[in-house]
Amino acid sequence: MTRKILVLPGDGIGPEITAQASRVLAACQARGLDIEVEEALVGGAAYDAFGEPLPAATLDKARGADAILLGAVGGPQWDTIEDLAKRPEKGLLGLRKNLGLFANLRPAILYPQLAEASSLKPEIVSGLDIMIVRELTGGIYFGQPRGIEEREGERVGFNTYVYSESEIERIGRVAFEMAQKRGKKLCSVDKANVLEVTILWREVMERLAPEYPDVELSHMYVDNAAMQLVRAPKQFDVVVTGNMFGDILSDAAAMLTGSIGMLPSASLNESGQGMYEPCHGSAPDIAGQNLANPLATILSVAMMLRYSLGEAALAGRIEAAVGKVLDDGLRTADIASAGKKMVSTSEMGDAVLTAFE
Ligand code: NAD
Repeated sequence: MTRKILVLPGDGIGPEITAQASRVLAACQARGLDIEVEEALVGGAAYDAFGEPLPAATLDKARGADAILLGAVGGPQWDTIEDLAKRPEKGLLGLRKNLGLFANLRPAILYPQLAEASSLKPEIVSGLDIMIVRELTGGIYFGQPRGIEEREGERVGFNTYVYSESEIERIGRVAFEMAQKRGKKLCSVDKANVLEVTILWREVMERLAPEYPDVELSHMYVDNAAMQLVRAPKQFDVVVTGNMFGDILSDAAAMLTGSIGMLPSASLNESGQGMYEPCHGSAPDIAGQNLANPLATILSVAMMLRYSLGEAALAGRIEAAVGKVLDDGLRTADIASAGKKMVSTSEMGDAVLTAFE
């Protein structure tokens, strides 16, 4: 059966990096992968064209797709839009919410070839391979009530940190299953010494644990987890946590690898439909200059093949091609180092395609 892929280039470097990833998808197609690829607008580009960051036509196409590849959204030219609901980021949040993409998988992998790009000592990070599983559609980012209001003569801002047992359980299961496929260690991160919602979080993780006897479950407070990530990051295999803690910890883990331009991510819903995107943003500072690193987006295609299309062999082939171009010494500006060959976005795409073939 033909699977439908929707490509949403978005803003800034989005169109440049998705163009390279689309070439890789086309190469998979040429090798017999039965897919149909369509493109649509999202974010600032969609706002400029239709006055909406997530036009109904884009959402319809997203609903009908088996998987979505997104570049990035946002940029300074849209930061002054007064109506917050029209800002580019709302396009992304709208997709996550409407498609029920509750499980965000963010690998932090340090390719041995790039160990020097990390701000930590090579022996602490070399070979790092962590998977952070972040809950994406609940928690304090979506909890009600929320707002800013006048109370007793001054303005007060408030948000609600809320998780139901079923929300915790479904993200917990994704994380336990992920740990089963990897190093069989799961660390659940919470703040159960202070926040009731995370006391419940911890209880649910404990309740699930006997169903996954091969997985070793541990718990860590989020402040300690932040510290351990920069002290001894290789102690982690799979980390599971809520929306806000996951937002912060996954960015910290990403930076351990030295370049955010290398890291893919996946967001999945209960039916296995997924949205795949690089961890970085739209990098307006380098947009339109053929400088951006397309590897995170190309690796997002590999994740798509693995997690939504059941094509692990093709995924492995893409990952191997990326390893090969790094072995060959090719580097975009963000991962450049002495003695290596600096290449542009499109040259990096060319090299991956050659290695893939
Ligand atoms: P950013 O990730 O876009 O950029 C941070 C730094 O990393 C910049 O110096 C940039 O040049 C560099 N960088 C990022 N990706 C790169 C790549 N592929 N190759 C080489 N260098 C790369 O984060 P920011 O500057 O905080 O945000 C810029 C815009 O992106 C904002 O409008 C923000 O809202 C948006 N944003 C979007 C997403 C998303 O679409 N998922 C995520 C984060 C930020």
